[in-house]
Amino acid sequence: MDLVCPAGNLPSLKAAVDNGANAVYLGFRDETNARNFAGLNFKDQQIETGVQYAHERGVQVFVAINTYPQPDNISQWQAAVDQAAELGVDALILADLGIMEYARTNWPNLRLHLSVQGSATTSDAIDFYAEKFDIRRAVLPRVLSVRQVAALIEKCETPVEVFGFGSLCVMVEGRCYLSSYVTGRGPNTFGACSPAQFVRWTETESNLETRVNDVLIDRFGPDEHAGYPTICKGRFQVNGETGYAIEEPTSLNVLPILPELMRIGVAAVKIEGRQRSPAYVAQVTSVFRQAIDACKQNPDDFVANDAWLARLQSLSEGSQTTLGAYNRGWQ
Ligand code: SF4
Repeated sequence: MDLVCPAGNLPSLKAAVDNGANAVYLGFRDETNARNFAGLNFKDQQIETGVQYAHERGVQVFVAINTYPQPDNISQWQAAVDQAAELGVDALILADLGIMEYARTNWPNLRLHLSVQGSATTSDAIDFYAEKFDIRRAVLPRVLSVRQVAALIEKCETPVEVFGFGSLCVMVEGRCYLSSYVTGRGPNTFGACSPAQFVRWTETESNLETRVNDVLIDRFGPDEHAGYPTICKGRFQVNGETGYAIEEPTSLNVLPILPELMRIGVAAVKIEGRQRSPAYVAQVTSVFRQAIDACKQNPDDFVANDAWLARLQSLSEGSQTTLGAYNRGWQ
């Protein structure tokens, strides 16, 4: 089981490599990837340096070009594919069918992965991408139970990567339009959920209010930790009650079920968080490296130790973690 870690910039890439990642994933500084936030991502020279740093240490580099182009800007996505290929990266993480076709036609030897943004939740969907575009790995959306992931892996010849830690999308990735609905821009075409230019933080006498394009998302008391506002994790009034209507701020953490994920044949665990600091990347990578190694050595007796869990909890949204859809018995 490989450990795939986020690199939002060069210091994070180095932190991931130095702390035990098998692969890092990154994006260009534009809307061709799903973490298009100001100050994040890579320019040409930085990628070259990063690729060299990773490769010298035996770590692979994947480039996410995983948003969807529009008819008038497809050449930008195609140029991103060319640029990544020329930089000698190990794989592209793609979502759009047209971009996949472009990459397969123009760079036949380049390894392709299906992004989580491709929204493939069945072995039939993944088989289609494998047959048509020879994808070598599929990243699953965070909406399947462990039982569903196991059933998919059993039928599917393409290796599967799942998310192991970090922020949660509660919708099927690639199909969520909440941010677009409120701002006109969202992760699928612009590369960012709740883009920063629409976010406002307002201090009142007793609260801190967060708004996205003037829609009130949350109101935090003095003792509450105020997270970055996304529509799915806002507190809203529904039927006269105010609360988290869709999802609470929390982070996914699969450490307790690592042996099960290994047993069912998950090929790689991915850490979310290209928007996080190098210190965050270093800590999460280090914990998961130790845990995966321990689990590989002795899966039957693996226990997620308290120190690891405490460290991960301190790095989590709302200081709480969840197994998310993995343990939804009804699915
Ligand atoms: S609104 Fe929530 S579920 Fe939708 S893309 Fe944003 S973070 Fe993901």
